[in-house]
Amino acid sequence: MRTESSGRCVLNFILVLLFHSAAHAQDYPGAIWNPANTNNYGVASRTATSIRWIVIHTTEDAPGSDCSVSQNWFKNPDQNTNGTPGTSAHYVICRDGSVVQMVRDKDIAFHAGNFAYNQQSIGIEHERHDASNWTEAQFNASVQLVGWLVAHYSVPGIFPSGIASADPSAASGIIGHDQVPNPTNSALGGGLHGKSDPVNWDWPHYRGLFTGSNFLLTAQHAVQVSVPTRDGYQYQVFSSTDLTNWQPASARITACGGNESFSFPTTNAKAFYRAQELPPDLRTHIVGLTNVFLDTARLSGSGNQMTIGGMRVQSRDYTFDDFVIATYGLDFCRQSFLLQQLEIVTNVGATCGIDPVFFLRDTTNSLLVNSSEAENTIHPINTTGLTFTVVMQVGNMFSMITDSASAPYRIVITDPTGRALNNYISPPGGLSFHPPVNAFRPGQYSFRLEPFGAASVSLNLRFRNLNHRPTVTVNSGATISQSLEAYWFDYAKFRISASAGQTLRFASTPGLNETVTVCNSLGLVVGEWTGGGSTTPLIVSIEGTGDYFILYVNKTGASSSYSTTVTLTP
Ligand SMILES: [Zn+2]
Repeated sequence: MRTESSGRCVLNFILVLLFHSAAHAQDYPGAIWNPANTNNYGVASRTATSIRWIVIHTTEDAPGSDCSVSQNWFKNPDQNTNGTPGTSAHYVICRDGSVVQMVRDKDIAFHAGNFAYNQQSIGIEHERHDASNWTEAQFNASVQLVGWLVAHYSVPGIFPSGIASADPSAASGIIGHDQVPNPTNSALGGGLHGKSDPVNWDWPHYRGLFTGSNFLLTAQHAVQVSVPTRDGYQYQVFSSTDLTNWQPASARITACGGNESFSFPTTNAKAFYRAQELPPDLRTHIVGLTNVFLDTARLSGSGNQMTIGGMRVQSRDYTFDDFVIATYGLDFCRQSFLLQQLEIVTNVGATCGIDPVFFLRDTTNSLLVNSSEAENTIHPINTTGLTFTVVMQVGNMFSMITDSASAPYRIVITDPTGRALNNYISPPGGLSFHPPVNAFRPGQYSFRLEPFGAASVSLNLRFRNLNHRPTVTVNSGATISQSLEAYWFDYAKFRISASAGQTLRFASTPGLNETVTVCNSLGLVVGEWTGGGSTTPLIVSIEGTGDYFILYVNKTGASSSYSTTVTLTP
């Protein structure tokens, strides 16, 4: 039983082998299989990765030859009596357009006079003798074959000019034998023997026969160019067939100055290409960066990614009056830093703090909700999904209090561009303070009140612009005395000029959950205290001459007041 079983196995194996061999005699379906002698090529197992070039030859046979002459030569086991390998090509294309395959594509034909190129190419001979020229049938058959090879082995459908690189791995494409470098002197073409074929080859006509359907271009078939750029300007390659109508041929890139290279695919049709310079896109790029201050930035991490935004930047186009809303992805695994989103709102004025942001610029105007409901009064509302709106100026800081709510409800806040700013659920019951909304751009903000779990909710709402007090300028020795309303983050601001080396002292500490923050004119926090029983004097060392801002902030929800003298010494 055992013997019979293994015998059947062997028989099956032989059958499979025969089938395998018969099915793969030729690679190109349109070819006649007429194998070269094994003395004249190298057996290998090449794949698309190792086939980078297609080399075009003409046979240059003796006068009176026909298409059998080269084929018989490649089949001759005794081309060289001294034992050195003979020559061969993968394909021979006859003058009548018939295609003969003589060496499998996976194997290495000896055609280029440069073994490194042989290893990475497919060689195609074209029958030529006497004074004969190429024929249209031959060209058409060649174009069909090359189109198939290009698609099959992902060889770029491009025709590099001049002698190819000494290293065949450095480039790829379709070339003539005369473009194969001499392996001993790469400045010379035609391989080791300086061949000058293909002879009488009409390259422009040949190239022109490659049109879309039989010549597949893949993403690899790209041209790379390098252009000198200006920082922040955008560059894009456009193509045209008539020099009048230009179509984008590449992605648009924002340059960082210096030479930038970018690639674009080519088509088979005759076309012109040009790179165009376009104005900077300030939404995607900070141009001429000089300084970044991260003190005001928000950083948050997740996995390998950290995002960063809200930093202060100083650049050709932005000052500290501009506010950057950006998301940069820092991938600590890949050690990369990529811009994910960038938005810059201009003329905001310096700000201080992170969440919420306090505006150092004044906006003392009152806010009108739904155009008529005044600030700081109780507005009874019954909502099944009501949206109210408020027009805000840059620097307004919208604060809202729910004095009572019959059920929980969701608050969805969007800015004038429709971007969601906040989305949270407010609890039922008595007094509830909501995080303030900073207006970084002017326009209409909307607040949607959605019942959460109930069909409708009855509310009593109050609201306020927290930035409704003008900045008070004080001098050394002055007394600051301020009451704040029962709004979360209600604040007052004072400005004092100080010189480098001076010390700014506060005689009194703020109360429980009240904060005193000192910012410099860039909005960077240089000192901060949250009160609550400490009698330690507040002291700030002044490092740079300029204006400093003192913010007194209420974080209690109840009204508060603070009084202190401020002194600069010496
Ligand atoms: Zn040749």
